[in-house]
Amino acid sequence: MFIELEPVFNNIGLSLDFDYQLDLSECEFAGSRPFTTPVRVKGRVRNSAGIVELSSEAVFTLSTRCDRCAVELERKFAVPVEHTLVTHLNHEDNDELILIDNFRFDLDPLVREDIFLSLPAKLLCREDCKGICPRCGRNLNEGPCSCEKPVDPRLAVLKQLLDN
Ligand SMILES: [Zn+2]
Ligand SMILES: [Zn+2]
Repeated sequence: MFIELEPVFNNIGLSLDFDYQLDLSECEFAGSRPFTTPVRVKGRVRNSAGIVELSSEAVFTLSTRCDRCAVELERKFAVPVEHTLVTHLNHEDNDELILIDNFRFDLDPLVREDIFLSLPAKLLCREDCKGICPRCGRNLNEGPCSCEKPVDPRLAVLKQLLDN
């Protein structure tokens, strides 16, 4: 969504509210397209004492699969999108500062970037997910399978000694 920033930069105390939906259904993450419903982006741009602050939040649900056992899962996120908007940089090196080169500012790339930076590298159905048996494919969260457990090679030597 485009925000017309010129009035905000020119008027101390002015704030602009926004509340819209961002379609990320084409975006891939971890090999799938988990944004099956739109992201809701809600917040405001405000000029307080000459400093223009963007404060907003992106709320969305990811529909994906557990990284370990591949069961389907949905997880809700609320990612803060908060930056200070400036029309020129002095010599600060600050990730929070966003340089505006056009008063007609497109919020979407910034929201998208903040969302992707915040996503965990992998999602598990639960923290202690046991995954699937590599031999029979059973979901081990539902109980153990009847495959013989792989034996630690050091124990295998011991077992051999005992067997002889
Ligand atoms: Zn799992
Ligand atoms: Zn098994």
